[in-house]
Amino acid sequence: MVVRSAASLREAGRLRQMEIASGEAGLVDIAVVGAGPAGLMAAERLAGAGVRVTVYERLPSPARRLLMAGRGGLNLTHSEPESAFLARYGAASAFIAPLLTRFGAAELRAWADGLGAETFIGSSGRVFPRAMKASPLLRAWLARLDGLGVRIETRHRFLGRAEDGSLRFDTPQGRREIAAPDATVLALGGQTWPKLGADPAWPGMLADEGVEVAPARAVNCGLLLKWSAHLRTHFAGAPLKHVGLSVGDRASEGDAILTPAGLEGGAVYGLGPELPIALAAGAPLMLRIDLRPRMSAGEIATRLTRAGSGLSLANRLRRALRLAPVAASLLREDGAGGTAPIPADPAALAGRIKSLELPLRGAAGLDRAISSAGGVTLDSLDGRLMLHACPGVFVAGEMLDWTAPTGGYLLQAAFASGLAAAQGALDWLAAGRSG
Ligand SMILES: Cc1cc2nc3c(=O)[nH]c(=O)nc-3n(C[C@H](O)[C@H](O)[C@H](O)COP(=O)(O)OP(=O)(O)OC[C@H]3O[C@@H](n4cnc5c(N)ncnc54)[C@H](O)[C@@H]3O)c2cc1C
Repeated sequence: MVVRSAASLREAGRLRQMEIASGEAGLVDIAVVGAGPAGLMAAERLAGAGVRVTVYERLPSPARRLLMAGRGGLNLTHSEPESAFLARYGAASAFIAPLLTRFGAAELRAWADGLGAETFIGSSGRVFPRAMKASPLLRAWLARLDGLGVRIETRHRFLGRAEDGSLRFDTPQGRREIAAPDATVLALGGQTWPKLGADPAWPGMLADEGVEVAPARAVNCGLLLKWSAHLRTHFAGAPLKHVGLSVGDRASEGDAILTPAGLEGGAVYGLGPELPIALAAGAPLMLRIDLRPRMSAGEIATRLTRAGSGLSLANRLRRALRLAPVAASLLREDGAGGTAPIPADPAALAGRIKSLELPLRGAAGLDRAISSAGGVTLDSLDGRLMLHACPGVFVAGEMLDWTAPTGGYLLQAAFASGLAAAQGALDWLAAGRSG
């Protein structure tokens, strides 16, 4: 996405228009606040267009959430057909569609390849960099941004705008005020994982400026269950490999992790972003765990019979079904914080292994959710992602009120909206700050 020759000539003309509009000799200054995927993508687009860009970030280094996502392999996007892809954004798909037309999965993969982070499509259709982590991509990206002249000011916590449009920051040296830039792109992220930079103050800050902000809700988050003390003490942190989970007609397969308060991990998030919303609304829902989703109950019963009854349950499950020790304890859970006897009969035990029913107590909170819904409402924006209430302020990324399941859809929309907000700022400046 570094600007090429013909495009660069067009950009030069647009930049001149912007400079004239800005009234200052040769300077168009744009501030990007938040150095996550959305903010850095906006910075790349802006700097590529010849604008002077400064990125302000509250943490000591950029893109910590992207690095954390890299621990799970960095699922950048998904390879499924466009219509299925778009449907993942639910009510926000009409908003997301034009962003993906400009920067969809193919463009994202080409961009990552251009940074030396060649991608591949996994067996699930998800797209990852071959390195299965974020750090090489981020290193190359920051070097590219540096080459484009982007300045990144870390340890700058945005506190809001003054009436004249100047930007106020909290820094280790105290308060700092930056004269009103020609435009501002806000990419402050959602409300999960505070240690990765989430700032609970920005919704109030924007509401004070007349921007409509929907309350944050955890999505793609853990589920709460009532474990027995035994399971909590001995198995918190244990992985449940390749399990099937279902709640009503929502179903998912994959890995999960047992936490002291319930379950988290890919198979849990795969149940969809609507589940935490239903739980928050108080719906009484039952989780069904299938510990061997690829085997029929009949086959399981046969294997259990063959393994004999002289073994401990854990050994029988390991020998017959290759289940880890956590399975034996899990099968004893009664869902109310106690334990229940295990059926001795192989067919009944197979039934329990295929469908362990546990009542859900709720969804885990924002602190460890993968993403949050809520944020700046889509009606607060014009087609360039500029806030109606704050001309010259553009918004991108997870701070907008859209959501999607895990699978690469979150990062895809963060990158694409960062690019769109930057383009919106360029278009607005080129049009003389009007319209
Ligand atoms: C554990 C985990 C794993 C994930 N894995 C994946 C995955 O594999 N695939 C996927 O698609 N998505 C994944 N996600 C979600 C994805 O990381 C986010 O959707 C994405 O990072 C959002 O990008 P963003 O730029 O909008 O926000 P962020 O990445 O959150 O960036 C916002 C930045 O703004 C800064 N900031 C906030 N407030 C202020 C302020 N007041 N002043 C200055 N700076 C501020 C923050 O410090 C942060 O650096 C994962 C998330 C988590 C938590």
